[in-house]
Amino acid sequence: MALIVQKYGGTSVGSPERIGHVADKVADWRKKGHDVVVVVSAMSGETDRLLSLAEAVAGVPPPRELDVLLATGEQVTIALLSMALDMRGIPARSYTGSQVHIRTDSAHNKARIRKIEDKHIQADLAEGKVVVVAGFQGMDEHGNITTLGRGGSDTTAVALAAALKADECQIYTDVDGVYTTDPRVVPEARRLDRITFEEMLEMASLGSKVLQIRSVSFAGRYNVPLRVLSTFEEGPGTLITYEDETMEEALISGIAFNRDEAKLTILGVPDKPGVAHQLLGPIAEANIEVDMIVQNVAADGATTDFTFTVHRNDYKKALAILEKTASTMGAKEVSGDDKIVKISLVGVGMRSHAGIASTMFAALAKEGVNIRMISTSEIKISVVVDEKYLELGVRTLHDTFELAQPESV
Ligand code: ADP
Ligand code: ASP
Ligand code: MG
Repeated sequence: MALIVQKYGGTSVGSPERIGHVADKVADWRKKGHDVVVVVSAMSGETDRLLSLAEAVAGVPPPRELDVLLATGEQVTIALLSMALDMRGIPARSYTGSQVHIRTDSAHNKARIRKIEDKHIQADLAEGKVVVVAGFQGMDEHGNITTLGRGGSDTTAVALAAALKADECQIYTDVDGVYTTDPRVVPEARRLDRITFEEMLEMASLGSKVLQIRSVSFAGRYNVPLRVLSTFEEGPGTLITYEDETMEEALISGIAFNRDEAKLTILGVPDKPGVAHQLLGPIAEANIEVDMIVQNVAADGATTDFTFTVHRNDYKKALAILEKTASTMGAKEVSGDDKIVKISLVGVGMRSHAGIASTMFAALAKEGVNIRMISTSEIKISVVVDEKYLELGVRTLHDTFELAQPESV
């Protein structure tokens, strides 16, 4: 008998029938004698619907009130799933994030979990009940409702699994595991039996939204066995694990991409100490996160050119700030482009292999895909390309590195 935390995403609870199906699955686990804690997302499309309601009423709504609104999505599904379990003769109790004391900081809309008090949950489990917890939400120290950022139910599940020292955290979704790339873009993509925490973290932070980044870092930090599985078909899914030295690692595990990118360039800035800070300080003060940064000495030797990327939602704000900074610094020109995307190759096997970057660049060049920016780390190579090349770029790299083949090492 084990303690399992299961999380069901929006599509998995997207209709009354699907909620019934989830209840059947939970009931099966319970009947096998396992203790089950279930975390659910809002029904698919619901969080988007709530966001657009808020925008229609208030444009840019106050973050605290937005959290009060967004948290209602998950409150609906915990109640419905508990009812469906009850109907099947499985005693269940639903809880909102604040009811089970998921304590977060006060950063509304992107709060971080600080602490979970698991007393209620333990007591219910001891009485043989299934505990159904609302994902994506918590409460700060002042009692305000907070939410954890899009995709945050994954993090609720992993945090609960860590707090309860669960035997496994199962993330049930609409694909049957983590693939070499998003199967919606490359149908030949292959399911991975396992992937390391490190690689999954890179994949998630480089745009693969199958798991929220924080859920992966939490799982790695607290050693939570984490598995991604399909709600709709049986199968082993993908296990996220530590690197196993006895197995040869795949050179490339997967390809991630991010459509939410925009880039900004400032030309002809006087080249002297403190320039980067002068340029990026005001951007950081406006709470805009900068991703890639490239600085180059201009041909005249006295000035420098600077390019960086931000989230597409922050593009206009960042451009306005940069134009202001440019005029005070006497820079030549500011330009920007919000029709770009980032494509990344990820694999721990890259550490011990040279030449991956040149194979990647050659493959893209052969297809006429122009690379606008490059950044690398030990286990990833990212390129920025025009948006129109996203599908072609991802497919080309998937083919070049033979990721559809099971034994590509
Ligand atoms: P849920 O609502 O269950 O949380 P998400 O939409 O957040 O589901 O995540 C599942 C989706 O992630 C899949 O439908 C798939 O399109 C996408 N995805 C992106 N990259 C990958 C990948 N490498 N492997 C599997 N799915 C991926
Ligand atoms: N409902 C939230 C979202 O759509 C949280 C989640 O599904 O994980 O982002
Ligand atoms: Mg998700």
